[in-house]
Amino acid sequence: MVNLTGKVALVTGGARGIGRAIAVKLAERGADVAINYRSREDAATEVCGLIRDMGQRVLAVKADVRMGEEVQAMVEAVHHELGTVDILVNNAGVVADQYLAFMKDEEWDEVLDVCLTGAFRCLRAVVRDMMKNKWGRVVSISSVAGLMGDVRRVNYSAAKAGLQGMTRAAARELASQGITVNAVAPGIIETDLTAGMTEQRTEALRQLVPLGRVGRPEEVAGMVAFLCSDEASYITGQVFLVDGGMHMH
Ligand code: NAP
Repeated sequence: MVNLTGKVALVTGGARGIGRAIAVKLAERGADVAINYRSREDAATEVCGLIRDMGQRVLAVKADVRMGEEVQAMVEAVHHELGTVDILVNNAGVVADQYLAFMKDEEWDEVLDVCLTGAFRCLRAVVRDMMKNKWGRVVSISSVAGLMGDVRRVNYSAAKAGLQGMTRAAARELASQGITVNAVAPGIIETDLTAGMTEQRTEALRQLVPLGRVGRPEEVAGMVAFLCSDEASYITGQVFLVDGGMHMH
């Protein structure tokens, strides 16, 4: 049984979708959890109430991961209220879909800035405390798009592949410090991010999934919780697909 009692976790974009499921799962396993949100204070308040009722300490903290100063202030707030961050889950992400020929610089920049640079900023902000504690867990939420590529998503696919490279480099650099760094690459998961897709597109994607259905956020959260635990102490620098078999090596 994965046991995270006494650990402090920070989940970016933790108020909705996959991030929310991860925050709840980590709390179920005994962690105190900081829920980062950018705009949806209502959703953050709701999930905080749920986690508090479970008996864990919880903090909602507003920050845009594109802003270095906000990330720094967020980590200081978590340190002050809950303690140093033991577990970082880089989950915040956005899409800005467009055909390559028509993609604007802003669409490229926004997705790279949130999905990849935001994750780097968060990792940089917590890593010194993890090094001092000689223990840390970092899990970044990548995507099958980072392995297979996706049409109208050169920005997103590049950012998610970039996260995998960052994961491997950071894993090598931090291994001697008791810090493991891994990535989870979901396939198609039912959240607000996929709710905007046409039924035709969802059906076409479903055809690519051997398990024949889209995934639930909780199914991603289980893998993340495992990677955050001592059970996963000998696993680092890996990318784990949670995709119903969509991409097989
Ligand atoms: P979602 O429901 O749209 O949630 C996205 C989350 O990211 C929200 O909590 C949002 O916060 C947060 N966020 C966006 N921009 C941010 C910023 N600048 N600073 C801080 N937080 C920000 O998406 P989801 O489906 O749960 O996706 C979660 C992660 O899984 C993403 O990295 C996504 O790329 C990845 N993923 C999803 C799927 C899928 O099929 N759903 C598949 C593969 C990978 P606010 O609500 O407060 O704005």
